[in-house]
This record gives sequence, structure tokens and C-alpha cells, in this order.
Amino acid sequence: MDAAPRGCHRGPMEETLDVDHLVVGAGAMGMAYADALVDHSDARVAVVDRRHAPGGHWLEAYPFVRLHQSASFYGVASTMLGGGRLQEHGPEAGLQERASQPEIVAYFARAADRMRRTGRVELLTGADFVGDRTVVSRVSGRRWVVPEPCRIVDARYLAPSIPAESPPPFAVGDGARVVPVNDLVRLEEAPGHYVVVGSGKTATDACVWLLGQGVDPGAICWVRPRDPWMLNRALIQPDPAVFLGVPAAIFESAAASTSLDEVFLRLEEAGVMLRIDRSVTPTMAKAPTLGEWELALLRSVEDVVRRGHLAAVERGRLHFTDGSTVQVPDDAVVVHCAADGLKNPPLVPVWQPGLITLQPVRAGFPCFGAAVTGYVEATRDDDDEKNRLCPPSRFGDSLAQWAEMNVRGTRASMAFGAEPDIADWAATVALNPARVPPGHPGSPELDRVRARLAASTGPGLVALEQMARGA
Ligand SMILES: Cc1cc2nc3c(=O)[nH]c(=O)nc-3n(C[C@H](O)[C@H](O)[C@H](O)COP(=O)(O)OP(=O)(O)OC[C@H]3O[C@@H](n4cnc5c(N)ncnc54)[C@H](O)[C@@H]3O)c2cc1C
Repeated sequence: MDAAPRGCHRGPMEETLDVDHLVVGAGAMGMAYADALVDHSDARVAVVDRRHAPGGHWLEAYPFVRLHQSASFYGVASTMLGGGRLQEHGPEAGLQERASQPEIVAYFARAADRMRRTGRVELLTGADFVGDRTVVSRVSGRRWVVPEPCRIVDARYLAPSIPAESPPPFAVGDGARVVPVNDLVRLEEAPGHYVVVGSGKTATDACVWLLGQGVDPGAICWVRPRDPWMLNRALIQPDPAVFLGVPAAIFESAAASTSLDEVFLRLEEAGVMLRIDRSVTPTMAKAPTLGEWELALLRSVEDVVRRGHLAAVERGRLHFTDGSTVQVPDDAVVVHCAADGLKNPPLVPVWQPGLITLQPVRAGFPCFGAAVTGYVEATRDDDDEKNRLCPPSRFGDSLAQWAEMNVRGTRASMAFGAEPDIADWAATVALNPARVPPGHPGSPELDRVRARLAASTGPGLVALEQMARGA
């Protein structure tokens, strides 16, 4: 924790934190917001987090996790995560580098140092925001209060739940071996069988890691309540001629389809969306990115259980909420990958009196959304205008929510993108996946994809909106 923050003593242990913004949460969202705000204003900011350092959930993430997107799309606007390098070896040679957990955590520590060096940012770690404008250290018990004009910035509104910190959402009977995904790296003896529980990115990572460690695909049972659609990582790359092809394909597919299932099937044909089992129509569209090499590995796991959610685990038996039971070997290790990693709380105006609630703005890419919000807070005075420029969008989950995310996100991008200063700034920010950086040489491919996007956005948006409503 920093040297004592500026301020004066109030109660025996209470001090005033003399800042303009109190950012609650030093995860990716809070850091991206504070970084952009500090770089484009003279605001004084305090960032508080109950964890011991900045970085949020990454501090407790499973050790073999990697960003599922290009590192350059993640982090804060002022400083690129990684070096924007292409991978030279392995199954993703030619694609952008993806940061590992230690790299992400070290990066946020550097980003925090950079903010501190402005002399206008305090970082209070190991401290809780307890409401009523009050922060309490979990270590010293010291209390800080922020004065009335100070704005509270809620940067934990989307905070994911992670297996390391949340109990499995099913009962565990005596003698059953259930471990959070993090503990896979701590097993002392190889079990004969694994049961991976979850439909999201963490479960796919766990399967890919186990197979990469040489576990026989036949020794994995995958409890997958829902099948996910996932984005092809080869297309979620910082090259605009590649990236812009994705929204173009989405709008073209939407305009040509009568249902969301049809939209996704067209996107699968176009190589944009991937699914593990082509005989099953996915019902989940959180749309993380996946490599085609990972897809091939995941398809080798044939023992897939689709009986809804797991209710309870006993030694040798899995009980489902539909009342059915599945036998598994007695020594099976059940791997908890079933925490809610992508939250979808109700959408609220980002700016409300005294409060800023960070939410995605463009479709996906939450770090860029938080950075745009920080930039707009730094450069605009009127809250109605700020809310017009940054209407919140949601994360996808169901197909209809995915469609809504794309409609809201695209409309938001149009709103803030129409502002010359924001457009200029956003073109310089690596977090912005749709940017064409200043000085980009241009290319016939880029011209073509931009023409496709210009032609398809209008009809595609209308079609997506109708399908989202009708779903
Ligand atoms: C395993 C995993 C991989 C992911 N990969 C990607 C990816 O590749 N790309 C991508 O864009 N997104 C990814 N995501 C989505 C991810 O949710 C977001 O990218 C982002 O990291 C969320 O950050 P956050 O700041 O909202 O939440 P967090 O990182 O959880 O930060 C919120 C912070 O608030 C603190 N806090 C909460 N309440 C209080 C309080 N009262 N007082 C003080 N502190 C408090 C918490 O301690 C926490 O540190 C991934 C998510 C997971 C779980």
C-alpha cells in the first residue's frame, strides 16, 4: 500500500481522501478507466481494491490461463500489453501473442506505477469500499472517507466469479474428489479419470490443458450443460482488414437470415464462429475466442454429458437437476469450472448523480469500453451528453443477448465514433479492435472489407434487432 494518502484526520482512525474520483476495483475495468481519465484530465483519483495488488481476478486465475484474445486488445489505453508481436512458433504461429497470467499481473502493476508517477493517483490495496463513501483497510483497520463532490466509480459491477474463489454450484458428497480448476496443477498423483464441469472458456481451457499434459481423451468426461458458439481467434486480430471482416460477416449473415440459429450457421460457414460438436445446435453465445487447434483437441473428448446442471456429486456418481444419474469411476477427479465468469447485471446509465457504473460500451472488449468511459469523463462536462456517447451494452450469453450486445455495441460505437476527438483518440488505442491506426498504408483488402461493412451494417442491425426481440 502507498504512503499515507493526502488528507486530514476526522475521527480517531478516519481520514479524508481528497480526490475527485474513487474507483472501486483495480481489475481491468477500473484500471482502464483510471488510466484514460488521468491521461486526459487533471483529476485526482483513488483506486481501491480488497485484493493485495492491482489486476483483479487475474491474481487468482488458474495458472495455465492465457488471454483468449490478442494481448494488445487488453489492459489500459496508455500502455500496450505485450509488444504487439506475432507468435513465431506453435499452433498459433502468425497470430498475435496472448498474455499469460503472470504477464497480465505484472502488466497491471506497471500500469499502476505509471499512474502513481502522475502524483494524482493513490492505489489502496487490501482495502474494502464499505459504502457511504468509506474505505476500510483490511490490514491496518484505517478508514478513509471521500468528500461529497467525489464521484464513486463502480468498477466491480461486472466482476467475474472464478472457481478459485467460489464453491462449486453443486453439492459434494463424502469421498467425492472435487477440485477448482486451479488445483489441477497441484495434483500429486494422476487419477484414472477426470470429470470437467462447465460450458465456458474455463472448461475448454481445462480440457485443452489436460490433453496437452497427455491425458487420454477417453479419460475425460465433460459435463457440458450448454454448447457454446465461439469466435475463431484467427479473425480476432489487430489487423483491420481481418478484424473488420467479422462485423461485416455478422451483419451480412443477419440480413440474410430469419433466425439467430441461421445467423450462427452462416457465420460457421464463413469461418467466423466455431462449435465443438456440429451435430448439436449451441444455445450459448458468450463468444470467447478459440483456436482451431484447440477445437480439434476438444473434439477428441467424446464422453460429453448434456443433462442440464449438476445437482450433486458422490463418489462414483453424478446427480443432475433433471433427476438423472451418471456413473463415473470412483477415483474420478471432478474439476470445478462452473463459476459465472461473465456477468450480465441489469444495464444502468453509466453516469448517475455521484456514481459512474462501468459497463461494456462497444460489443465486447470491456477494457476498451472502460477506457472510452474514462476518456469521455475527462473531456465532457454534461452527464446526459456522456450517457448519449457511452450507452452501456451487455455481454452475450443466450443467442438473443449476443444479438442485443451487437446492436447496442454498434450503436454506441457510432455515437462516440462520430465525435472527432474521440475518433482520433480511439484510432491510437490498441484496445480498440476496430481501429485503423493512423498511418496505416491501406490495402485493397481493407477497402473491400470496409465497403462490405458500410453496405451491411444498416440492414444487419435492423435484422439482428428484430431477431433479438423475437427470440
Ligand atoms: C478466466 C477468465 C479469462 C478471461 N479472459 C478474457 C479475455 O481474454 N479478454 C477479455 O476481454 N475478457 C476476458 N475475461 C472477462 C473479464 O471478465 C474481463 O475481461 C475483466 O477482466 C473483468 O475485470 P473487472 O475489472 O470487471 O473485474 P475484476 O478483475 O474482478 O476486478 C474487480 C475488482 O473489484 C474488487 N472489489 C470488489 N468489491 C470491492 C469492494 N467492496 N471494495 C474493494 N474492492 C472491491 C475485487 O477485489 C476485484 O479485484 C476473462 C474472464 C475470466 C474469468
